[in-house]
Amino acid sequence: MKEKLRGWEQNLATLVIGADSLWGGDYQAPSGKDHFVAEPWTREWETPKVYEDSFAAELRAQGGVLGLDGRQAEIQDFAARHDLTGLAAKIRRKAISLPRHRAYFINNLVNSLSLIVLTGLAQAKVRSYSFPSFEDRYRAATLYQGSIQLVDVKEERKNLENLLSRAGYKNRSLLGAVQEWETAHGRLDPEQIPQKVTEILSKVIPLTKEQLIRHLDVQLKGDIWKRLVDVPYNGFEFEMFSMPSRPEMTGSQAYFGGNKNQRPALRGLFEYNKDYPMTYLGLIALCLHEVMPGHYFHSVATDLASNLGFEATIPTMCSPQVALWEGVAQNSIGFLFDTEDEAYATLAKLFEVKEIDLRIQYALDKLMDAAKHNAPIMHQREGMSEKKIREYASKTCALTDPLPTKIWGWAKHPLIGPMYACSYEQGRRVVTGMIKQHGRIPAAIAAYNLSGSIVDIETFQNILNSSE
Ligand SMILES: [Zn+2]
Repeated sequence: MKEKLRGWEQNLATLVIGADSLWGGDYQAPSGKDHFVAEPWTREWETPKVYEDSFAAELRAQGGVLGLDGRQAEIQDFAARHDLTGLAAKIRRKAISLPRHRAYFINNLVNSLSLIVLTGLAQAKVRSYSFPSFEDRYRAATLYQGSIQLVDVKEERKNLENLLSRAGYKNRSLLGAVQEWETAHGRLDPEQIPQKVTEILSKVIPLTKEQLIRHLDVQLKGDIWKRLVDVPYNGFEFEMFSMPSRPEMTGSQAYFGGNKNQRPALRGLFEYNKDYPMTYLGLIALCLHEVMPGHYFHSVATDLASNLGFEATIPTMCSPQVALWEGVAQNSIGFLFDTEDEAYATLAKLFEVKEIDLRIQYALDKLMDAAKHNAPIMHQREGMSEKKIREYASKTCALTDPLPTKIWGWAKHPLIGPMYACSYEQGRRVVTGMIKQHGRIPAAIAAYNLSGSIVDIETFQNILNSSE
């Protein structure tokens, strides 16, 4: 039985799905490749009317406004029919009476959704709509208040160069040294990847339970499991698909949650493009990010935490919530260990790899976040060309093929650029800072939505700072 949506919750559902439809997303699709702004809902809410609008179906079929040229009038009618530009104000008025952290969360979420709608209308060239500024989109998703600056990669390049040289890879160019290091480690045969993922997870799940989860003493809803450490984390599925024309596409990660035999099903699906090249070291980092203690654990904790409202069941892309989630997943090591030395020593032993190679992998990961952050700014705000962006990704950030293609694809997109790509760096920095300031366990309780509130990159900090 699907639950009914009422009042502001119904308005929020309409706004989320309306924004998603404009950009061609389909939150009810079984594959994450078809999701965009709206992620699958983890409870059986009724389907909002906007989803069933025949024009929404056409938008979904054509890839949203980007695929519907010359249909301005119909796009405008669709937005007007569901009040997509007026709902945010209505939701905000109702949110005022909610508890403080919840009200902020809703307010932040609808601000980003409004910009997604306005960007969609501008992209479709609907009369009287122009693109919101790059700064507005960036700030709506990251909630960053300071002046928007490029991340300086000088230090990180130096760090990577030192690590590579210690490992025996000395080349005139940093990119050349990274290429030699990658070649020496070899890329995995795609057919081996599912088995390797299973192996890595069989180590990472007990590690996460021991190092992190057993310290999270929090109230869960329902009476199936008393503590998070009792949860089996067995709803995770890994599937491969092949997209040789898009080797820069890693895949997608979606959490469906739901129930099976009156128990939480904990269903998460990671779909991996087997044409995306990967080393064993890269796969370890990917599993920590996507599964434990990253996105899958984050989703399960949110699914099982008590006292979270409607908005905790409808995760949304390109929002301040995602800035937090990427920040958390990029701090996987920081949530598991007290120090970096302990982290690399333990992980090296666990996976039978060299400590120095893990350090190199994570230094590359940081340069990748910087590239994701800087490229949209350089292209959309400063007008840098595709050629220069690709050069920046490969020469300056030492990213090997096909990553410069991924960076360019993200940099040029009007939503992914400012409202998603930039969030990794911003999210990582904020979460690292909060772990340092408050300790990893208190930071985890707030970040994983276990303090009684669903949080985003801002309210997560407010909760930690007000608890002192
Ligand atoms: Zn992620």
